[in-house]
Order: sequence, then C-alpha cells, then structure tokens
Amino acid sequence: IKDKNRIQELMELDKKHFLHPTSPIKQQQDEGPSFIFTEGKGVHLQDMAGNTVIDGMSSLWNVNVGHGREELGKVAMEQMSKLAFSSCFATFSNEPAIRLAAKLAEIAPGDLSATFFTSGGSEANDTAYKLARHYWILKGQPNRRKIISRTKSYHGVAMGATNATGLKPFREFTNSFDPDFCYADHFSTQDLREVIEAEGPESIAAFIAEPVQGAGGLHVAPDGYFQEVRSICDEYGILFITDEVITGFGRTGKYFGIEHYGVVPDMMCFAKGVTSGYAQLGGVMISEKIHKDFTELSTGTLLHGYTYSGHPMACAVGLKNIDIIEQENLIKNAEVMGNEMLKGFKWIQGERRIVGKVKGLGLMGGIEIVKDQQTNERFQTSIAPMIVTEAAKRGLICRSVVFDSQDTLVFSPPLTINKEEMARLLEILNDAIAAIE
Ligand code: PLP
Repeated sequence: IKDKNRIQELMELDKKHFLHPTSPIKQQQDEGPSFIFTEGKGVHLQDMAGNTVIDGMSSLWNVNVGHGREELGKVAMEQMSKLAFSSCFATFSNEPAIRLAAKLAEIAPGDLSATFFTSGGSEANDTAYKLARHYWILKGQPNRRKIISRTKSYHGVAMGATNATGLKPFREFTNSFDPDFCYADHFSTQDLREVIEAEGPESIAAFIAEPVQGAGGLHVAPDGYFQEVRSICDEYGILFITDEVITGFGRTGKYFGIEHYGVVPDMMCFAKGVTSGYAQLGGVMISEKIHKDFTELSTGTLLHGYTYSGHPMACAVGLKNIDIIEQENLIKNAEVMGNEMLKGFKWIQGERRIVGKVKGLGLMGGIEIVKDQQTNERFQTSIAPMIVTEAAKRGLICRSVVFDSQDTLVFSPPLTINKEEMARLLEILNDAIAAIE
C-alpha cells in the first residue's frame, strides 16, 4: 500500500511538473509514466511496481556495458570526491580528460587523433559543423558553409543538429529550415553528387552521415557506399564527418561503425556508449591533418567551448567504461549476439506473416512490419507502436519508428547480452507480434 501511494504520488507529480524529452505530451498528461524505473542489472530494468523488463534498447542505444555496474559508480565517486570539476578553457586541464583523449586517439580509426569534448551527441554535432566552418575560414574559403546530411538521418536536437536531421518532423517542430543545410538520399551516392553539384561544391563545408542510421529506422548502407562517399568528398574537397553517437564503442561489432567500410572520416562525433550512460559525455574527434591546420593557421582563440567540455568525472567514467568493453570482449560479443539476433528475426519472419524485411549490423537490429510479405505493402495505420506496447506488457522494451511512412521496430540491447537473454528477447518479441497479427 505504501508503495502504491508513492507510485500514485509520483505519477501525479510527473504529470504536473516533468516535461519529458521527445514524448507524446498529451498521452503523457493523460496516462502519466508507463514505468518509473528504480534499478537496473545487466540487460534488465526494474520499475517501482516491481516489474522486470529486458532493456532491448540499451535505454537510448547507450547503455553498452549494461546496467548496475558498481565499478563505474566507484570511479565516479572517487573522481568526484577528489576533483568533481575544474575548467578546461584556455590552458587548464585535468588528468581524466587528457587520458581519455589519448585513449580515444588509440582506438579511433586512422589518424583521428584529437578530441573536443561535449556533454552529449547533439552538442557533438553542432561542434563538428562549427569546427568544419571554422576550418574553411582558416583555409581561406569562408563560403564553404553548407552541411549536407542524409534523408532518414538523426543528428540530435541542438539547432545545428536539428537542421542536419533528415527526419522532417524534427525540423518542422521548430520551423527549422536553415538553407545552409541540405540532404542527399541516404543510400545513393549519385544523389549526393547531384546535391553537391546543385548547391555548388565551393559552398559546401562538410557531409555528415551515421554509419548505420538508428533513430531513422535502422538503415545499413549498402556495401561500397561509404567508400564512394569518401572519394566523392575528396574529389570536391568536402570534409567527411561520421556521426558515431550510436554506432561507436562496439555497438555494431567493431569499435566504430565506419570500420565496416574501411574508410577514415575527417571528423567523428561520438557520445552515448563512451560512458554507457553512466555520465553525460560526447565529443568530436578530428584528424591529425585538421588538427595541424588548426594549430598552424589559427591566430586567435578557438571560440567554442562548453562549461562541461572535458568534465573530469565524466571522462574518468569514460575511461573505465572503455576498459570494461575491452576486458570483457564486448565488441566480439556484439558481433556474435548480433548474428544471433538477426537469425532470430529471420525465424520470426518465417513464423509471423506481418514481418517484412529484417536488418541489422551487430547489436543494432530492425524489423519492418508489412501487410503483405510478398509485396512489402504497409498497413494504413502503423502497427509497430502497438507491438511495442504488447512487448512491454510481456517484459521487453523496444522502440518503433514511424517517420517517413515507416513501420519499423528497432532494437539495440546491451553488448553484454548472453544467449539465454537473447532467446528470451526473441521469444517475447514473437509473442508480441502474434498478439497483434
Ligand atoms: N546523433 C545520433 C546518431 C543519435 O542517435 C543521437 C541521439 O540519439 C544524437 C546524435 C544526439 O545525441 P544526444 O541525445 O546525446 O544529444
């Protein structure tokens, strides 16, 4: 009874005082929160009412090492007790930030070697666009201002990141249609070339892409796509930025998603998995060449910095988190369990008549819901959100994507997931789909 009263009290306070991020505001007001989470262990989350669910999304694609890691809590506490915060502006620094930057240089592809820290992925994206523009100012080509991104992309919600996001509803929400941002088809290098030509190559600062599109419906680029992107960017002198906010730190079965394509970007955004959500941290890595140009050509101050750039506690947590990923071989596990997940999706596809295309790379997976498996015809109204609700009732958290007339379920469980947990995830999923079809 005591707990019931507490839950009721929190439901009311939540409705009244808590404006939730990216949420259906009216439904939130009518129904209140569906789960008030209190604890997590491994791939599981527990709520106040005592329900235990599999976190099939690693919450927001970010809890790579799983929930309830006391060793990360310990590192955070030790760092906060010693030095919770000090500035990294100008010539000030701190050991965790220095060591994390050095570690990132060791694990990042190619010559990406210097890091600008932020508090998350949206800030990382805005930082990348600003650094790209500043780079062109230093290089004497200030007209290179435009950023090309892709259809179905998601880059976050800061103003630049919103404008770069190819999913239109995010831009329409604030009437964000900055003409300096343009979009190429997410899979077509021919279209990228046409957009560059139409906009004028000398006006373009950078092209940005997620190695695997997550929030936009789980789209794995075709073989050869990024190799061609790299050579198009080189041909037109455009900087190539990868947004590894989801795909970084083992998620796809390699350290960074772009490694599947064997090319090296000029800049790379990261966040989420760098700390597995145990602290707020993101950043942008730049190549040795850009770093050298910055230092040689710049005469003034790098006028871009967040109070929390290089936050000592967040960086200490990042270092320990990377250590866990390496010690526990989680990148390999993501590859092995990712194959298991895709195999399971294919099995479900055979069992359930409303499952269309299934797709994935490592522990990022997607299932398209269709009316007709043969023709790929969609239902008039989206079905995936109903399956999400059914799955949650049965103990599995997953997510639906319905932008751009899609009807897709997406998954990204923690990289620690084992065979039994994966089997359970697939079993619940199959039951949830069966309950709807
Ligand atoms: N970039 C990508 C590819 C993302 O998926 C996200 C968030 O989901 C972001 C950027 C924004 O990151 P954040 O929510 O930490 O600002």
